[in-house]
Amino acid sequence: DHPVALTGVDVTYPGGAAALRAVDLTVDPGEIFGVIGESGAGKSTLLSLITGEIAPTDGGVRVLGEDPATLSAARLRALRRRIGVVFQGVHLLSGRTVRQNVALPLAIAGQRRDRGERARHGERVDEMLRFVGLDERAEAYPAQLSGGQRQRVGIARALVGRPELLLCDEPTSSLDAGTTVSVLDLLREARERFGTTIVVVTHDLAVVRQICDRVALFDAGALRDILEVAPGSAPV
Ligand code: ADP
Ligand code: ADP
Repeated sequence: DHPVALTGVDVTYPGGAAALRAVDLTVDPGEIFGVIGESGAGKSTLLSLITGEIAPTDGGVRVLGEDPATLSAARLRALRRRIGVVFQGVHLLSGRTVRQNVALPLAIAGQRRDRGERARHGERVDEMLRFVGLDERAEAYPAQLSGGQRQRVGIARALVGRPELLLCDEPTSSLDAGTTVSVLDLLREARERFGTTIVVVTHDLAVVRQICDRVALFDAGALRDILEVAPGSAPV
């Protein structure tokens, strides 16, 4: 089963031109799938379809076995708990510590708040902080971190709910080259360690070369090509 499958998808915004046209694509389990294209190519629209924020004008969307556009609000929330998102600007809460920011998705999702569950959540947060190398900074506030460390917090927060699918929207566009390499390495480690399927939207070819298995090239709403990325192509 494909974590993401689009068949014949068109998206036209009200009063706008076609943002996606006749798009067919499937993402394989455990794959790191790149989506590349200029501004306006339709990349954000693709992510909005996957999270169920918008419905296709035409065609079919399947995400983790569900059609997000047809789900009730409750079932859409359940689907979204299976999807982690890493944002371009990270969006950490400035008044909360690193640990509190990472714990946030569990706090929101947790209905039963018995002591055993809180302890399990605490262990998972600690595990994620170790995974991203920030266990020593757990009590720091976002303003006290570097840009790369903040993005690591964002990745820990996205992974703490053990998502089957991780969506990354321009995850390195605000980072310098050296920090970019280490953040991308971390995404690849997440796939190796947890088997997470990852979709990375980027305009940066270096991102694609460093971590993607395949890349979809979008141009003005059309999927021009899907390319295999040669294993071991040199990071640039
Ligand atoms: P990208 O993420 O690749 O920059 P988008 O998916 O944001 O591309 O946009 C694709 C096209 O859809 C663009 O022409 C954009 O102007 C248009 N578009 C995006 N969002 C909206 C919206 N909410 N309403 C109307 N048009 C939109
Ligand atoms: P548990 O012993 O809690 O049942 P699992 O067997 O589900 O753990 O997973 C093995 C290890 O990998 C655990 O340490 C778990 O926290 C971690 N793990 C599993 N899946 C994910 C994921 N998608 N994201 C982050 N961590 C995960």
